[in-house]
Amino acid sequence: MTNSANTTKPLTAPQKALRKMGLLRDIDLALHLPLRYEDETRWCSLGQARDGEIVQFLALVTSSEIAFKPRRQLIVQVQEIVSSATNDEEFLSNEDLIKGESCTLRFFNFYPSLQKTFTSGKRLRLRGEIRGGMLGKTMMHPSVHAYDENLPNTLTPVYSTTAGLPQAYLRRAVMTGLDRCVRFGSFKETIPEPFQSPNLWSLTKSVQFLHEPAAGVSLLELEDKTHPAWQRLKAEELLAQQISQLRAKRERQSLTAPVLSGHGEIAVGVESKLVDPQEPNNSHSGALTQEFLKILPFQLTAAQSRVIGEIAKDISKKAPMYRLLQGDVGSGKTVVAALAATQCIDSGYQCVLMAPTEILAEQHFKKLVDWLAPLLEQKNLSVAWLSGSQKKKDRQKMLEITESGQAALVIGTHAVIQEQVKFQSLGLVLIDEQHRFGVAQRLALKAKLLDQEPHLLMMSATPIPRTLAMSYYADLDVSTLDELPPGRTPVITKVISDQRRDEVVSRIKAQISLGRQVYWVCPLIEESEVLDLANATQTHQMLSESLPGINVGLLHSKMQTSDKKEVMQQFTEAKIGVLVSTTVIEVGVDVPNASLMVIEHAERFGLSQLHQLRGRVGRGAAASACVLMYSTGEHGRLGETARERLKAMAETQDGFEIARRDLEIRGPGEFLGARQSGAAMLRFADLSTDQEWLDWAQDLAPKMLDSYPQLAEQHVARWLGHKLEYLKA
Ligand code: ADP
Ligand code: MG
Repeated sequence: MTNSANTTKPLTAPQKALRKMGLLRDIDLALHLPLRYEDETRWCSLGQARDGEIVQFLALVTSSEIAFKPRRQLIVQVQEIVSSATNDEEFLSNEDLIKGESCTLRFFNFYPSLQKTFTSGKRLRLRGEIRGGMLGKTMMHPSVHAYDENLPNTLTPVYSTTAGLPQAYLRRAVMTGLDRCVRFGSFKETIPEPFQSPNLWSLTKSVQFLHEPAAGVSLLELEDKTHPAWQRLKAEELLAQQISQLRAKRERQSLTAPVLSGHGEIAVGVESKLVDPQEPNNSHSGALTQEFLKILPFQLTAAQSRVIGEIAKDISKKAPMYRLLQGDVGSGKTVVAALAATQCIDSGYQCVLMAPTEILAEQHFKKLVDWLAPLLEQKNLSVAWLSGSQKKKDRQKMLEITESGQAALVIGTHAVIQEQVKFQSLGLVLIDEQHRFGVAQRLALKAKLLDQEPHLLMMSATPIPRTLAMSYYADLDVSTLDELPPGRTPVITKVISDQRRDEVVSRIKAQISLGRQVYWVCPLIEESEVLDLANATQTHQMLSESLPGINVGLLHSKMQTSDKKEVMQQFTEAKIGVLVSTTVIEVGVDVPNASLMVIEHAERFGLSQLHQLRGRVGRGAAASACVLMYSTGEHGRLGETARERLKAMAETQDGFEIARRDLEIRGPGEFLGARQSGAAMLRFADLSTDQEWLDWAQDLAPKMLDSYPQLAEQHVARWLGHKLEYLKA
């Protein structure tokens, strides 16, 4: 299948189509496994067939013509050949054949070559669905094969294909690829002997079988992939994923990162002074950390203390931390991040915090400045702010203090990883809402760091369900905040039709009269931004009219950043009572006095988006509510998945449960988003059914890397080939 460089012949249409489908190498072809199968291994005579049944018989063409009524079509008359040989096996001429019933074939799409196939007197094998009618039996577009009394003894594979690539061509290409792979050892056994078992088929046998399953095999087992041949492919794939991630993890562990044990220079290499993970705020911690803990207006939750301990332990090692901090909205990730920062600064290194949006970054900035700036000033240090929209002069100043090392903490949007930004001694990188950053941005961040790798802490409010964490995120260490700070009241969630808008407005009035504040979210859909903007403006107007004396604010995506900030500021200071917003209110905004959230057209939002939004309320002590207002439009009813989403929201507030259901509804592809773009998705394994293989692979991967490194290498190369760089990002 390879094209040598000096070939000047242009590619044929099927060759181009193969390229388009990414079927370039032999192994790509060999692993292009069938979508389904057709059973051509049995005869089914015309005479015995009932309406709608698949028949397969030998036929003699008696006539064929092209008709134009009602549209252009090829009409062929055939007769079933019941027997073509005499007792002494002598073949009969067409005239003497023993013939059965006749049948009309119709083709609406056909090439001239097909017409030639049907010259009168020709013998063929036909297969297709039979229709009995007043005018006799007919078949539409049957499959046509050469005359042969011996049927195939394997099921016929049907491959996913594309325009210009006929099944027969693709099948031949696949078979060629398969043969070469087998011949050149591409499917050589990589699972070490002690880990093989009789019920684990060899890869060669499995792939060969799947392309040509023996007649009589259960089609059901093939379809639901419970057949041992499929099981081997799932096992293969999951093992490759586990090995490559474990390898990436180990490679990272072999890099050198600054030791951030919280004691400045003297601490380097002093392992005995590690912060005790059981007791993170103990007396070993450095000055800034201590001072910060003293001024912190609340007690850390047990979960926060535990997680801070996990992080402290990681960053006081020479190997770079690569950790995900997951915690539901409102679980208090910021203070955890702040304590990691203080430990870093106490060790004499800089820390950078990156957030996906400007508003979110600024919230962090304000909070951390409040907490840390006075303490840092005493040490002649400061906090730098970097964003895309800041004035050139301000930016210049910030770049200077970042480079000189005077800024112990640098906060901003992805502006913090732009080329001009230079650090004096970067020790720790904190990334908020990590799933909103792409692979490219993470690679850019890595490229910033010259000789030393910083420690990395990624934060996410979207908890990763266990199976996903075990597979796609196996290279990460995960810390979980599984407890909310005390004093929160659960948010009551109501799902109601937008016919009852008036009731909602009275509810808003009631909340405002109690001195509370309200969010009103209108959905924003990329394709119709203008429309949605109009809608939000209308809602803003409607609410302003029905809520006299109450300041109703408007925030939408097309506003200038400075205007957005102004509105947010007013809302934070309670100068605005109701905030109408088209943009999803930036994930992470924190206004504890807001006690009611209304989400208009809730049916248009994704599940985790709704959950994040709802997390904006219930942050203070006041009883809070979230109203999911849906519109059924002209159809008068909600779609199935929309209904499921809203139901899930009303039923649970547990972020993990929501994430699990979200995964169920959407599948891992969308859930993973940026992390997997360009990287290898699982093609055969299904995390919802293959937990056992995942456990198996997780167990085997370290053993292979330790004791069978060559086999591990071969195994990964077979499955991931050139895609590896992405997995390391
Ligand atoms: P998230 O995990 O969503 O980023 P935040 O860090 O914004 O959550 O915290 C949510 C709110 O809870 C903030 O107002 C924060 O100050 C407060 N908070 C965090 N930890 C505690 C705690 N242990 N006790 C009381 N309040 C806390
Ligand atoms: Mg947050």
